[in-house]
Amino acid sequence: MKAVQYVDVESVQVGQVAEPTIQTPDDVLVRVTTSAICGSDLHLYRGHIPGMAPASIMGHEYTGVVTAVGERVRQVQAGDRVVGTFHVACGVCRMCCLGQYHQCIQGGVLGYGLAFGDYPGTQAEMVSVPWGDINLRKIPDSLPDEKAIFAGDILTTAYGAVQNSGLKPGETCAVIGAGPVGLMAVMAARVMGAGHVFSIDRDAGRAQAAESFGAIPVDSSRSNPVRRIMQATAGFGVDVVIEAVGGPATLALAFQLVRGGGRISAIGVTAEADWVFPLMSSLTRDITFRIGLANIHRDIDTTLNLLGAGRIDPTAVVSHRLSLDAAPEGYRLYHQQRATKVLLQVG
Ligand SMILES: [Zn+2]
Ligand SMILES: [Zn+2]
Repeated sequence: MKAVQYVDVESVQVGQVAEPTIQTPDDVLVRVTTSAICGSDLHLYRGHIPGMAPASIMGHEYTGVVTAVGERVRQVQAGDRVVGTFHVACGVCRMCCLGQYHQCIQGGVLGYGLAFGDYPGTQAEMVSVPWGDINLRKIPDSLPDEKAIFAGDILTTAYGAVQNSGLKPGETCAVIGAGPVGLMAVMAARVMGAGHVFSIDRDAGRAQAAESFGAIPVDSSRSNPVRRIMQATAGFGVDVVIEAVGGPATLALAFQLVRGGGRISAIGVTAEADWVFPLMSSLTRDITFRIGLANIHRDIDTTLNLLGAGRIDPTAVVSHRLSLDAAPEGYRLYHQQRATKVLLQVG
């Protein structure tokens, strides 16, 4: 079968690899129909994440059709149209039983190298999904693959970050970063009842995209975002900040934008080991700070319902629909910031 393989920094190829087979009674074989290139795939592509062996299959976002199931699988069967979670969990360990699927003792991330469980990725014609009962969801008939695929990662990642912020209806929210996850956070905050949602990005085009999703755009290359937000909130700051970039500069900005007693929820992926926490001011201003990777299994049924009901439509973020053969071009475009979201139409 064809699959997108990691070669080296800034190099991927479409190669021929052996088709996966059922190895354990919990495995599910899926014929991939749609995959996607994610911002976190770019971290691998750029060589920021160690442990990606040459020829490993890339990708973790996908929809497909079940072709075979292991003997213990009960929730899906051959012929079902499914979307998978980007991180996989066993469903039975102590962490999974606590609902902390993203902390699963045996889990990992599909297509993300040795440090994340060494699972083959989903930018391929077929994928073997471990613990298929817990890591797959059937897609409602009325929901097309190119919407459902967002539930497996970025929409649910963003929704979870807003959920973690404790946003209440009517509260004002600032989302830092208008990349794909930031735009999903804008949609999630709005559907969860936020009042004004500000979207801050230093790229004018991205800020404009955020406006089309219902946010008030703040182009931080042209104006000071702190001043803008303070002017708009009578000098108080916003109730909630969603940080969707990652790294010290945008974390520091989040603390400047949030009101006293407000909450920050950080979801941006970073490779920085540490950062100086604004201790004294957070104490006196009573700031709640939360950071963590998404717990997709917790929220995916909710986001699938929102997609199915038409409350959220993320497809406007898709800039390119390419064949699997064109995946290397998709990586290049995304790497050069000439794409917002690349879907790979596999089969
Ligand atoms: Zn992803
Ligand atoms: Zn587990």
